[in-house]
Amino acid sequence: MAEKTAAEKLKEALLYQPKNGGATLSDDQLKAAFDFCEGYKAFMDRAKTEREAVEVLVRTLEGEGFSAYEPGRKYLPGDKLYYNNRGKALIGVVMGKKGLEEGVRMVASHIDSPRLDLKPRPLYEEAQLALFKTHYYGGIKKYQWTSIPLSLHGVIYKKDGSQVSVCVGEAEGDPVFCVTDLLPHLADAQRKRTLEEGIKGEELNILVGSLPFRDDKESELVKLNIMRLLHEKYGIVEADFISAELEAVPAYKSRDIGFDRSMLGAYGHDDRVCAYTSLMAALCCNEPEYTTITVFADKEETGSNSNTGMDTAFLRYFIADLAQPHGVEGRRVIARSKCLSADVNAGFDPTYPDVLEKNNAAYMGYGVALAKYTGSGGKYGTSDATAEFVSEVTRLLDEKEVKWQIGELGKVDQGGGGTVAVFLAALDMDVLDVGVPVLSMHAPFEIVSKIDVYMAYKAFCAFYGERDGDAV
Ligand code: MN
Ligand code: MN
Repeated sequence: MAEKTAAEKLKEALLYQPKNGGATLSDDQLKAAFDFCEGYKAFMDRAKTEREAVEVLVRTLEGEGFSAYEPGRKYLPGDKLYYNNRGKALIGVVMGKKGLEEGVRMVASHIDSPRLDLKPRPLYEEAQLALFKTHYYGGIKKYQWTSIPLSLHGVIYKKDGSQVSVCVGEAEGDPVFCVTDLLPHLADAQRKRTLEEGIKGEELNILVGSLPFRDDKESELVKLNIMRLLHEKYGIVEADFISAELEAVPAYKSRDIGFDRSMLGAYGHDDRVCAYTSLMAALCCNEPEYTTITVFADKEETGSNSNTGMDTAFLRYFIADLAQPHGVEGRRVIARSKCLSADVNAGFDPTYPDVLEKNNAAYMGYGVALAKYTGSGGKYGTSDATAEFVSEVTRLLDEKEVKWQIGELGKVDQGGGGTVAVFLAALDMDVLDVGVPVLSMHAPFEIVSKIDVYMAYKAFCAFYGERDGDAV
């Protein structure tokens, strides 16, 4: 090999030159990343909604020795517990060797994703077709949700208070549903609408049937026939939709992307990619130095409000309750705690290069992305991590050989976005946004790099002070 020039040597010493993990990782590390993502794919296909995610998470945690939180119990080092908030948000805890007064290490992701929610009175008939009215949830580009197969997930509460679980469109042989779009031949007027208005909220109607009930004396017989089928299958009547939460999501499974299979396409990487990787990191913890708290929040996509979101008291109260038997005040625990807000970042897309600033954007395959701040405009609505905490985290990741990069949510003045970081920082914790870069974020089919997924897992393991289970 030729001797390095003086400039090359100086560049290496002085300049920050991020590299693609695909070029720099060992074959073993690459294989570990690909293998790790097989588990992630299985998780994604079973956990398409926040409720399903909680079910899978609880089952997984219980299988690894976690048990349901018992209020008032004094938990000891090595104890593993979880707190289930209304079946829609979850907290997993592994008690550490140090006392809670020394603070905890927290990783907080969210398990809700953009989707189409059914309205309280969804079912109607028009032109002998039965449809569901929807109200979209989270920031979607509405046109992306037409003409794709949708499945229906959720719960319905009947008049007698009993619960019915619904999941249609996922099993082989299940029917699926669909939002229709206008044929191009007749779309002249629609084409003149802006992209934002191309499909309007009230046009996101889901087609659910076309056969009438065989009785020609009544009206709305297609709707009646659908209601008859739903009553047969679930024992519900139309009014029960009012006490239901039904979500339409893409019906397809996660798939490898590319000839090299280096990426993964799926619905809801944002943010179940950080939920899964932090779950797997939590499972590596047996008796960590600091107590680890892994939070899986709901309602991030709509601003973290509601009693299962992060802009509410449940996390704060839970920590206070956990600390109380130790004679420690919750706020003392929180003030000494450190947190990674685990959420996805915008990956650099060469087809749309103008929205990201090249030096500060996250690239596919360059590792887990750190965002010092999110928000928009003049850093409005952000938790701006301190230089001290960024230094602490980056040194830790370097020490543990976790591949990481810097990322930001778009150019200054381009737009932006938020995460749960602001709500955690508001509690008086050190918080830094750390997550996986995504292409086509919030689309029904989002894309991540397998290397970045694996590096997120390794980053969370490092933060928890644990060696990852399949370290190579
Ligand atoms: Mn997110
Ligand atoms: Mn999001």
